[in-house]
Amino acid sequence: MKITEIRIGRISVPLRVPFKTALRSVDSVEDVVFEFHTDTGAVGYGEAPPTGVITGDTTGSIIGAMQDHIRKVLIGREVDAFENCTRALNGCIVKNTSAKAAADMALWDLYGQLHKIPVYKLLGSARKSIVTDITISVNDPEEMARDAIDAVKRGYDCLKVKVGSNPALDVARLAAIRAAVPKDICVRIDANQAWKPKEAVRILNEMQEKGLDIEFVEQPVIAHDFEGLKYVTERSYVPVLADESVFSPEDALKIMQMGAADLVNIKLMKCGGITNALKIASAAEVYGVECMIGCMLEAKISVTAAVHLACAKQIITKIDLDGPVLCREDHILGGALFNEKEISLTNAPGLGIEGVMAGKIRYID
Ligand SMILES: [Mg+2]
Repeated sequence: MKITEIRIGRISVPLRVPFKTALRSVDSVEDVVFEFHTDTGAVGYGEAPPTGVITGDTTGSIIGAMQDHIRKVLIGREVDAFENCTRALNGCIVKNTSAKAAADMALWDLYGQLHKIPVYKLLGSARKSIVTDITISVNDPEEMARDAIDAVKRGYDCLKVKVGSNPALDVARLAAIRAAVPKDICVRIDANQAWKPKEAVRILNEMQEKGLDIEFVEQPVIAHDFEGLKYVTERSYVPVLADESVFSPEDALKIMQMGAADLVNIKLMKCGGITNALKIASAAEVYGVECMIGCMLEAKISVTAAVHLACAKQIITKIDLDGPVLCREDHILGGALFNEKEISLTNAPGLGIEGVMAGKIRYID
């Protein structure tokens, strides 16, 4: 199976409701899709969202990385020489992790198809289905409590709440949510780098003293401040998960060696795909640090790749893959099955993606 052509397209999927965090507000998923064509007729799929405020990757940079670098090293390669493919991909350009992630998942998709096996079975086959949390957007406390009740009615038992814009209001928001949902509903929070270390400890401990029962906090301090993260981890009653601090396997290893976080969030778009995510998972196994798997605002191709990884590895114990259920429409054929919180995989080889619905992809090259 030889890669003969790589096509680039764009998809646009409206969200059910606008998605708001401390960093941005958006109302649709606008992703780049790669189609890897081969001489056997098999097609491998990859997808990347432009999440400039987190990864630095924009639509233009994702497309440019493919056009000017990735195509040059992958077209003509045999998929079965798999490590040659992934090494060439990782070596052809620095950074650009979103474009690399999309290309890497397309390679895994093809490799699975070549050997007629689903990617999650290639990687470890720990389970066939997983349960995701769902994100509650930042709004006033009453609206967030209503959204939380709605999510629980839809069957979710774990809520992820975006905080960080105003500490007093955040406590009020979480108190409103806690009062609105049953006690056994898990609530985790994501500060998206909003706090200073001492401020984070004060806010988090106040939350626990008020009985808000927070499962863990994601990224309380700015990404590059590993010492600050460690400070919070050592002093907060709430466990700390490193998200924006951990892009590469090297970052993950450093965080684990420092004891700077209790948990690590793996996202394909930060680390550059399944190949590098496996390195983070291996380091986490060595250090006994449980991982969460998360996504950006992504549609079903790239989240399906994350589902395969999550189903393969037991060290991934927390699932935050609500991208597709936040979308109002699904334009992708095949892939993982998303039934509210339950996500499951089929026995289709590779990623199991059958394509994008006719008229829902705009090819640009
Ligand atoms: Mg996060």
